[in-house]
Amino acid sequence: MLFKSYNNKSFKQTEYYTRLPKDEKEIFDVLSSVFHFKVNNYVLAHLINWEAIPEDPIYKLVFPRKEMLSAFDYEKLKQLFKIGLDEKTRIGFVQSVKKKMHPEVKHAETGFPKIDGEIITGGYRNFPTILNLFPDPMVKTCHAYCSYCFRWVAFDNTEAQKKTAYRDPYDPIPYLKDNPEITDVLFTGADPLVLKASAIKKYIDPVLEIESVQVIRINSKALAWWPYRFTTDKDAAALLELFRYIQSKGKHLNFCAHFTHAKELENEVVKEAIQKIRETGAVIRCQGPLVKGINDTSEDLIALWKEQIANGLIPYYLFVEADHNPESCFRVPLAKALRVFQEAQKKTSGLARTVRGPVFMNDLNRVLLDGVTELNGEKYFVLKSLQSPPETNGEGKIKLIPFDEHTKDAGDLFELFKEKELEMNQIN
Ligand code: SF4
Repeated sequence: MLFKSYNNKSFKQTEYYTRLPKDEKEIFDVLSSVFHFKVNNYVLAHLINWEAIPEDPIYKLVFPRKEMLSAFDYEKLKQLFKIGLDEKTRIGFVQSVKKKMHPEVKHAETGFPKIDGEIITGGYRNFPTILNLFPDPMVKTCHAYCSYCFRWVAFDNTEAQKKTAYRDPYDPIPYLKDNPEITDVLFTGADPLVLKASAIKKYIDPVLEIESVQVIRINSKALAWWPYRFTTDKDAAALLELFRYIQSKGKHLNFCAHFTHAKELENEVVKEAIQKIRETGAVIRCQGPLVKGINDTSEDLIALWKEQIANGLIPYYLFVEADHNPESCFRVPLAKALRVFQEAQKKTSGLARTVRGPVFMNDLNRVLLDGVTELNGEKYFVLKSLQSPPETNGEGKIKLIPFDEHTKDAGDLFELFKEKELEMNQIN
């Protein structure tokens, strides 16, 4: 299959658009004027069950949903469409709605790597042993977009990309040399594997020369969104060769695969792709968020982990959804998240216990929602910091917050686990 992607305009030219029920067409028309939308021919033909629209989980994973906007904004936008205003005239209101959507991500000033007081753009270090790198070509796009993704503000946004990504592959090298305690380097995105193998190699090569770096991590949803990247794409063989090359340099290659639903793992193409990656020696660990209406039952998680184990993958993290949508429409209440996770664990093989969850990763601490306890007749959620910036001294600490059956929010985890004042930055 040759890759073909569709945006909000070109999707309307496909036969799939004509198959949408009337209501769904309207929702698509209205919401895709505000939100990012990208889908490809594989997702359309092999992952979405068009007989099950709108409940199909992969459909919900890619197509924008009504709940993503407030009822007021949705209705107003719908009216603008109904009266037939052209795009140019609608744009003012669309922009004002978009502005409300801009997710803010907290970063500690201390997380920005610096040399001689100068920040190295495109790097971020929230934990002592790992450096996250954002090479400019890797932050641009993915093979399809997830409806819950909060990184969309950076897609097609050269200004945001300039502020957060680097171009010269050697930029972070002096910092890595000066900080030998960094053992892991993570290439993330958008999706690094959208790039050609030769372009990826350009950024990884200099890092391979750093002896203290033992692990190269690549975060990607390519296995779910475009498994042909590893089988029949023009440079699929070159990509697999790159994976071998990384390991021939004595590094462990951790392929962190983003999977949300078992359906993403069920067909022969993805199974073949997994097999090919595993044959290179790379280890595939799986992570993804718990998302309302998509994978929020224990049956969903059991099916997901079973598929992962059967395919030789390692379940790694189940995240609490990042909740950057102002309507909180993707996040599951914490009490339910915990219940669903614990029920699923009880019913799966011990091999699935490698998965940690539900874990918050959208703050500077990586925090485990570990259970519920009672103290003096009051119920509390138990939170445990799995990782935290060293200067906060929060790692390993346990904190209790009041239990509430309906809350989706654990408050400011950074504040909860920090020990001293840190300078904070808000970046988009
Ligand atoms: S693949 Fe990852 S970065 Fe890309 S849209 Fe989905 S969640 Fe966002």
